[in-house]
Amino acid sequence: MSEEFFWWNDEQKAIYKDVRNFVEDNFEEAEEYFWNTKFPWPLVKKVAEKGYFGAGVPKKYGGLELGATGSCIVAAQLGRLYAVGHVFTVSMLAGLEQILRFGTDEQKQTWLPKIAKGEELGALCITEPFAGSDAANVFTSAIKDGDEWILNGKKRFITGAGVSDRYFIYAKTSDEKDIRKQYGHITSFMVEKGREGFSLEKINPLIGFDNVPNGYIDFDHVRIPDSNRIGAIGNGWNVMMAGLNFERLIGAAVFGGLFEDVINLLFNFTKRRVQFNRTTNQFPGVQDGIAEIITKAKVSRLYSYHCAKLLDDGKEPMVEASIAKMINSEYARDIGLKTIQILGGDGLTKFLPAERILREAKIGEIVAGTTEIQKMIIYRFSAMLPFYNKPIRFRWNDKVNAPIISKKESKFKGLPITEENVLKVIAHDYKISPGLYMTPDDVREDIGGSRSELRKIFEELETQGLIVTHRDRPGKIVLVKATYTGLQNAFPKEYYQWFPDWYENSDKF
Ligand SMILES: Cc1cc2nc3c(=O)[nH]c(=O)nc-3n(C[C@H](O)[C@H](O)[C@H](O)COP(=O)(O)OP(=O)(O)OC[C@H]3O[C@@H](n4cnc5c(N)ncnc54)[C@H](O)[C@@H]3O)c2cc1C
Repeated sequence: MSEEFFWWNDEQKAIYKDVRNFVEDNFEEAEEYFWNTKFPWPLVKKVAEKGYFGAGVPKKYGGLELGATGSCIVAAQLGRLYAVGHVFTVSMLAGLEQILRFGTDEQKQTWLPKIAKGEELGALCITEPFAGSDAANVFTSAIKDGDEWILNGKKRFITGAGVSDRYFIYAKTSDEKDIRKQYGHITSFMVEKGREGFSLEKINPLIGFDNVPNGYIDFDHVRIPDSNRIGAIGNGWNVMMAGLNFERLIGAAVFGGLFEDVINLLFNFTKRRVQFNRTTNQFPGVQDGIAEIITKAKVSRLYSYHCAKLLDDGKEPMVEASIAKMINSEYARDIGLKTIQILGGDGLTKFLPAERILREAKIGEIVAGTTEIQKMIIYRFSAMLPFYNKPIRFRWNDKVNAPIISKKESKFKGLPITEENVLKVIAHDYKISPGLYMTPDDVREDIGGSRSELRKIFEELETQGLIVTHRDRPGKIVLVKATYTGLQNAFPKEYYQWFPDWYENSDKF
């Protein structure tokens, strides 16, 4: 099931085997921490000794330099060790991508070896009591005082709160309206545990993350040096966005190994459970359910590594990271529910991992941007992509007597730019797409002329009641269509009529 992908390099393939073996050797120990609700410190230390925390860190800073792909490989396997996967994930997110992309050489020398060694865990601190999905609305403030910054405020829902040593935070450094409008009011900082005034406020009792602390932290006049500022003052939003692509991807990939374990469990279980004198794997509904789970596991895994490759190739896969994050958590929820259904009552007990996946999946649908926010990103960024916004023009094809997508020039091209001809173009479009408006550029493409010339004609035709315009907020014409009178003025009624061959003339009127 969890094959290596052909585009992985040899080192990535090697770490995949290595970390798999490590996970299988330590599975039992991880379960003991889960059952005892104990933070798995000894296991985290073992992961650190293996160097896995350095998966995404360049070799010159003591890492394994396996990129986003390598980080996903490690996260997916460590996810099978439950808390360890979460700790690894969040520690990766607390500065790695942000420092690699925005840190100075000195900051890279300071922080990256620490991240790679994994001796100190990291926490990522975006969310606040009044800043959730609206992550730009942070209240935690950072005020410059000489060579230092003074931090005040609270962060909440911080995974690894308390057990982590470094906290990558986003604070507001400006209240100016114009700067806020351009998202220039946020700056990112690294804050170490132990700074005066920095304290832990609360640990949340959650639906999942059983033995991973998640909580509130408090900054009460915490002083940090300017060297702890990552990226330029006011560039925190960009730092956050760059970090979030990586975060969403790793948060997605961490489910991959769990899916594999669940499928393994389902085959084992259903071949041994007998009802109505048949093993349950013989029931079509059970086979159907397992097939669905396998499909979702494979699709989400493939998509995660596709997204990782884009990141490794230096792309900014905003849409892909959101899709990876969204489908992995949605599929995890579906897989959890379906697994429980196939296991029956046993699936609802904590003795089997199905209910655990379901609880984790629900967290997955909220954390690092809710599913609704991922959809917003997917829509907004895709709406700007030229790839999805190529103009599509239907033209009337006399040979088939139907409108078809065509690259041919309009039959109106080259006619004089007069009110009469422009109206004809717009009315002709009713014959092609009766319910749609035309953009001014569509009209221009069909007949030619300059934008200003056409705009004047549109205004004149509108005054005469021959067309209707749709305008944007400042009042610019963005769409036009013919009115009923406009259609009548442009062409006779028959021009717009269309009947299939089989339709009897006697039935027309
Ligand atoms: C277990 C756990 C671990 C976490 N770990 C961390 C961490 O380590 N670091 C960190 O900084 N944060 C962390 N978070 C916080 C997490 O990222 C936020 O909970 C999440 O971004 C949502 O914010 P919120 O909870 O304030 O919900 P809200 O933003 O209040 O959202 C409530 C609802 O409104 C919807 N909504 C909001 N805005 C829109 C919109 N524009 N369009 C449509 N729907 C919208 C949401 O989708 C949601 O359904 C964690 C959260 C949990 C539960």
